[in-house]
Amino acid sequence: MIYYGLYPFVVVIMMRVGFYTLGCKTNQFETQALERLFAARGHTVVDFRSEADVYIVNTCTVTALGDKKSRAAARQAKKRNPNATLIVCGCYAQVSPDAVRELCGADIVVGSSGKGQIVELAEQAQAGHVLQPDLPPALAKKPFECLPAGGLLGRTRALLKVQDGCQNFCTYCLIPFARGPSRSMPFDDAVRECARLEREGYREIVVTGIEISSYGLDLSPARSLAQLAPALCAAAPETRIRLGSLEPRTVTEEFCLALSCHRNLCPHFHLSLQSGCDTTLRAMGRRYDTERFALSCELLRRYFPGCAITTDLITGFPGESEQDFAQTLDFLRRIAFAQVHIFPYSRRKGTRAFSMPGQIPRAEREARAHAAAQVCAQTRMQFLQSRVGQTAEVLFEQRENGLFFGHDMQYCPVRMPGEHLSGQVRLVRIAAAGPDGLSAEPLQSC
Ligand code: SF4
Repeated sequence: MIYYGLYPFVVVIMMRVGFYTLGCKTNQFETQALERLFAARGHTVVDFRSEADVYIVNTCTVTALGDKKSRAAARQAKKRNPNATLIVCGCYAQVSPDAVRELCGADIVVGSSGKGQIVELAEQAQAGHVLQPDLPPALAKKPFECLPAGGLLGRTRALLKVQDGCQNFCTYCLIPFARGPSRSMPFDDAVRECARLEREGYREIVVTGIEISSYGLDLSPARSLAQLAPALCAAAPETRIRLGSLEPRTVTEEFCLALSCHRNLCPHFHLSLQSGCDTTLRAMGRRYDTERFALSCELLRRYFPGCAITTDLITGFPGESEQDFAQTLDFLRRIAFAQVHIFPYSRRKGTRAFSMPGQIPRAEREARAHAAAQVCAQTRMQFLQSRVGQTAEVLFEQRENGLFFGHDMQYCPVRMPGEHLSGQVRLVRIAAAGPDGLSAEPLQSC
């Protein structure tokens, strides 16, 4: 099927478009938005593993592994259909556009901003006009790009990106060079978009961004996450609102007071730790110390009893001594996180940590990650066991091995027998805890 498109002299050919997404929830949000934009133009979104006319690889550069996986996905697409248009976008494309062109065979490279133009670029390419847009320097100031929230598949959980970019320049992190300075979605637009997602039937909205704790600082008048989050809860009162990763200092008494009266706010807080040793935190350029972090956890547990506190950790940062690492293990035990994402330090060219003395061999970085994982498995199990016998509100997502699978408000995985539960929120009783999560039995509908 063909029709004459909106763009002068371009015949729009209906396309099959396959997506591959690496990295964080912000990237996932942007892919979902692109899927909506392509579908709105009449194109068909297909499985990335099938033959498509256009492949879009949304890349990540947070670790060297992210780069490698990004290149591999792009090469796979080219191999699957050498005649397809390959568009590579996102953080790795932004920082290494030449590698993306030369090593991956990308036809078009789009950076971490301007993803909204990808539909037009794909249509032009299919009509025989391959246009390479300028790649604006990542560090240049740019406006927040508003893209439509809500995926095409089901109406279970929607991501809502309210912020982009970061200007903290932690010494190990390339993201500010890939995403540019922090910028925020206008306050009223975010609130409206949240209400729309509830009207569309989504049962949970995850508030995402690269550094949502910086939300609103660039707006005029300035706003804050402590203002936005309660407004989102009020705009979608029947929908669960889950906050993305928070900088620990965001959690103040005022923040907790403003949010604790909203029963639809998920009592699940992801506070980014990275190290449990103050010397290492300083070397990382993080702006809190372990006591400030512990205070945030204490406030959260006081205002949201039973909440889940999760975090990220980097092991083997340059200069991290064995004693420093031992302090981190002690801190992990002290806070008793519900879950920890652990990454051995990845040395990224272009960051300050790249040339720091005291680089730690890969095997040691990985051994420390393994040791931390053992501690975190114990604290996770303690947390899961503390839920047994409690009532939980679970959003069921899919059927797996004869059971329905979903997440409760604390984001614990929950399995339960039943029928037709996908996309449903149910009150359940937690019957047992195991390494894979919680088992539940029905209580009543809600
Ligand atoms: S806060 Fe630090 S770690 Fe997080 S994106 Fe910004 S620079 Fe990277």
